[in-house]
Amino acid sequence: MEQTIEKATSVEALLQKRPLIISGPCSAETEEQVVNTAVRLAATGKVDILRAGIWKPRTRPGSFEGIGTKGLPWLQQARKESGLPVAVEVATAKQVEDALHFGVDVLWIGARTTVNPFSVQDVADALRGVDVPVLIKNPINPDIELWIGAMERVQKAGIKNVGLIHRGFSSYGNTEYRNAPMWHLAIEMKRRYPGVLLINDPSHICGRRDILQDVAQTAIDLDFDGLIIESHIDPDNAWSDAKQQITPEQLGELVGNIRWRSEDIASEEYHIALEKLRQQINNLDDELMQVLSQRMKVAEKIGQYKKENNITILQTNRWNAILERAFVKGEKQGLSKEFVTKYFDAVHMESINHQNKIMNA
Ligand code: PEP
Ligand code: MN
Repeated sequence: MEQTIEKATSVEALLQKRPLIISGPCSAETEEQVVNTAVRLAATGKVDILRAGIWKPRTRPGSFEGIGTKGLPWLQQARKESGLPVAVEVATAKQVEDALHFGVDVLWIGARTTVNPFSVQDVADALRGVDVPVLIKNPINPDIELWIGAMERVQKAGIKNVGLIHRGFSSYGNTEYRNAPMWHLAIEMKRRYPGVLLINDPSHICGRRDILQDVAQTAIDLDFDGLIIESHIDPDNAWSDAKQQITPEQLGELVGNIRWRSEDIASEEYHIALEKLRQQINNLDDELMQVLSQRMKVAEKIGQYKKENNITILQTNRWNAILERAFVKGEKQGLSKEFVTKYFDAVHMESINHQNKIMNA
């Protein structure tokens, strides 16, 4: 009994550490693999908590769905040999019970669970009366209300130590990322819940190794509290998420390469310089709004003209011509095609709405 209390307190203290680094395999596969990964991670001196998936929610059936409860004693062994506390994903009440029975130190709720309030409630109910930290991954779809809802369900069950993991959001089609980071959503969570631990999961955002460092750096530049990154003793032959895993030593290097910045530094000179640049940004934003408002007024005039001549609002040829022109100009100005597309889509929609008002007035 006493031992449980002692363990919980020290893990709680550990979760206050900044940056907090969690690493370990996507899935526990064999005892040897888990223990070796843990020992090699501990040897880098850069890792605070070992992660390992025991139950794996896979998108399609037929792939490795996790070793199950028999892997939990391996985690105990890994903790004993490496000194690292262990974190496991849970998605059902039974999994919560099993994980707690084997003394797992930290639980996390996966992205495929956060989307489903029934599942989250099931997990939350199993956590009632338990003192264990719980990290909640964002849902797979870009809906922060679901993310918040999951956090509230867990908090209402009496869990005091909750944290958030930003692992990106799925989207249709091939993109640079496995899960689009949509950083603004994580930033919004940080704004709404400034005191809540927020860590970034570059592995599931990237889905590949070559951009892990960049995404990790971006997260740290955005003042995230830490990182969770998958690592494996033999990444290429991992039973799940092989493409995104790196060796424990590479993980150590990646963390070592990060440029740490302080959120605030005392230097007055720095504050003044920053304030000036921020003022410039404000001015430019004001100008952009003015220009956009002028653009809408011109669109309204066109709307008036179309109304008088009874022409449809949408002229596909004209729209294509606008986009073609914008891509060429945008590229010259250093604006990505992705941004130009999104920007013109938004401007175009707003334009149509303005014209619609005129035409149906
Ligand atoms: C994982 O961490 O291995 C995992 C399944 O992640 P996610 O829930 O983010 O897909
Ligand atoms: Mn994974």
